[in-house]
Amino acid sequence: MKKVVKFGGSSLASAEQFRKVGEIIRSDEGRRYVVPSAPGKRFAKDTKVTDMLYQCYRLAEEGADFDRALAAIQARYQEIIDGLELDLSLDGEFAVIKEQFAAQAGRDYAASRGEYLNGIVMANYLGYEFVDAAEVIVFDSEGNFLEEKTNAIMSARLADAERAVVPGFYGACEDGSIKTFSRGGSDVTGSVVARAVHADIYENWTDVSGFLIADPRIIENPKAIRTITYKELRELAYMGASVLHEDAIFPVHKEGIPINIRNTNCPEDEGTMIVRKTCRKPEFTITGIAGKKGFVAINIEKDMMNSEIGFGRKVLSAFEENGISFEHLPSGIDTLTVFVHRDEFVEKEQKVLSLIQQYTNPDSIEIDNDLALIAVVGRAMKEKRGTAARVFAALAHNNINVKMIDQGSSELNIIIGVREYDFENAVRAIYDIFVTSEL
Ligand code: ASP
Repeated sequence: MKKVVKFGGSSLASAEQFRKVGEIIRSDEGRRYVVPSAPGKRFAKDTKVTDMLYQCYRLAEEGADFDRALAAIQARYQEIIDGLELDLSLDGEFAVIKEQFAAQAGRDYAASRGEYLNGIVMANYLGYEFVDAAEVIVFDSEGNFLEEKTNAIMSARLADAERAVVPGFYGACEDGSIKTFSRGGSDVTGSVVARAVHADIYENWTDVSGFLIADPRIIENPKAIRTITYKELRELAYMGASVLHEDAIFPVHKEGIPINIRNTNCPEDEGTMIVRKTCRKPEFTITGIAGKKGFVAINIEKDMMNSEIGFGRKVLSAFEENGISFEHLPSGIDTLTVFVHRDEFVEKEQKVLSLIQQYTNPDSIEIDNDLALIAVVGRAMKEKRGTAARVFAALAHNNINVKMIDQGSSELNIIIGVREYDFENAVRAIYDIFVTSEL
């Protein structure tokens, strides 16, 4: 068995957490490749080391004194090193970091040091080889991740390493400058390492016992999902369900490697398995619910729209030319609605509207603001009749007006648009009808 294990920041926030991680790794011979995040929060009001690094670097950029801020970061690592009684000094590393900050080596360089240093500590603690991610994860000069090139370099490098620690979150551009993935990107590193070593499984250790059916900020104690397919997860992640970085699915998906989300604080829990295909039936009709606020709908109406070939293309080109991606596109005979993210749309609103006017000469354009979208996702929905009916009955019973319905052609999801103020109630109503009532 060859396993890649990634540990999130809260799993590595203190020496005590490191010890739990050490036990987990040592309890299974197969856990040969370890991807650590930077130390996260030790308690709710604590600051993640990554954020401390960003703040510290900002001082350096402003030409202000950053010695104290950097010393506070070193203290976080020293606390871990002392707690683990390691024979390790990071003084030399911090001297280099100080120089690089003063020379303004870049925000990405700054942020990446959190993982880099934690990787050194982890490798020392476990007695594993340290492989700097800058050697094995490659970006082009525009900062785009080069997946295939990375895979080739990483596979070759790790073939020589029986057991290794590869820090998460960053890599390097071809000119050697450090580049990070977006926030939470250590998940992506873990997935890339799993693909490169042809792992049997990619274990992603965090502080929850798996992926939850619904957002715990809305539903009290939601049930965890036992098995979910990549596709279902992608639908949910896209709609805001967070546990795993959105891009972490792709590298392992290519190889069909399952991801297992596990809880460092409850290692006996099975967590969630994310797989390509499964014959396991979901416990409930739906696998999960996720949603987001902050959408705007642009409703375009024109008599005889149905016979005007190219109408949709013209409307969409008004968005495309302004670099706005659309989310959903429900249509009627003489109406077409475009759902977009408010944040992306708001600045360019007037330009888009005037282009739509110019290209299509519609009878009317209306804007509907403050909308939320909810995705009800489940591979079992396809086989079951009446799922949509149950969703809408539940919403109707809770006096929630549905603004939009969109069932993807895969029948994997039903997307519902509601007013933002109805959002939480809508999620609760859907959870109740499918989960609470199916228990
Ligand atoms: N430490 C980085 C962050 O806070 C990356 C990660 O944890 O995955 O976003």
